[in-house]
Amino acid sequence: MEQQLQIGSKLSLINGKSEAIKTPVTIKPDQVDAVVSQLPTQLQTTLILDELLGMFEKHLRQVMHFDSFHYHHQAMNCHIDNADQRHHRCNYTLDLNGQHLGELSLTRRHKFSDAQISLLEELLCLLVYPLRNCLLYKQALQSALHDELTGLGNRAAYDKSLQREIELAQRQNTPLSLIILDIDNFKHINDSYGHSSGDQALRALSSTITQSMRRSDIAFRFGGEEFVLVLSNTDVSAATIVAERLRLAVAENHCTDNTKTFRFTISVGVAQLEADEEAYHLFERADMALYQAKQTGRNMTVCAPSVQTM
Ligand code: GH3
Ligand code: MG
Ligand code: MG
Repeated sequence: MEQQLQIGSKLSLINGKSEAIKTPVTIKPDQVDAVVSQLPTQLQTTLILDELLGMFEKHLRQVMHFDSFHYHHQAMNCHIDNADQRHHRCNYTLDLNGQHLGELSLTRRHKFSDAQISLLEELLCLLVYPLRNCLLYKQALQSALHDELTGLGNRAAYDKSLQREIELAQRQNTPLSLIILDIDNFKHINDSYGHSSGDQALRALSSTITQSMRRSDIAFRFGGEEFVLVLSNTDVSAATIVAERLRLAVAENHCTDNTKTFRFTISVGVAQLEADEEAYHLFERADMALYQAKQTGRNMTVCAPSVQTM
């Protein structure tokens, strides 16, 4: 059974598979009234998506029996499945002013009545605006830490992450290395092929980086055409192998934007964290190694000497 409910001109709830039959509503009307009147205030108390949905589910349980509650938003990578699905389901695609707000469904062993479906839809109408706010907040948090062009973490994410990884390495006495890489003569790529080819090169580089790293490695676009990799549990010789593998993969890669194909190279600096070394200093040493790679002819990897030998 497919139905679409329009509330005002703004909200549409597309009801997918609910199967309505006439069964008596067992919840007392004053209980329902209390939930309907309290819910808007409750839902305004959080901007955290998981908390909001938890709150909504809790209130819903006070007025309706169901076995499982599900919420999915693919683009926001949000998936809540709090129990195994049962045979009968009430399924809604939530959409507000054309903005997709996810899919919400309830399942249970016996059918949902018309009255229960109406009540659920009334409560969903109270959910959509707070839900929209939570999704916007989540999106804002994500974009504050991500580079839009490549999808990698940005400089703010790098600062947070490196600090955390350094503390962990020092506490556990494990090695940690930093790789900084920069596209060679990138200005020439922009000048020769256009800015969109330059952007294409940045995306291609970021996917080569992601393909060559381990799960525990973390990559960031530090700025412009400069990228940083944080390799936990990795000493300088292992990091150099990673850096060289990456450099060779980039040099062999043909970058294409449908009209033209071109290649580019990268220069790489590698440094291993010293005892009691601070994040900025580790970065400086790796950056100095990168500078040397540029000075010595580009398309090469240089390792920073340890602090004792500098
Ligand atoms: P080097 O080998 O010494 O690193 O030379 P380079 O040309 O790569 O370095 P330079 O610092 O002279 O130029 C960097 C260029 O990167 C200039 C800038 O326009 C370009 N750039 C920075 N960010 C972006 C971006 O997001 N997209 C594109 N297309 N270009 C960018
Ligand atoms: Mg460059
Ligand atoms: Mg640069």
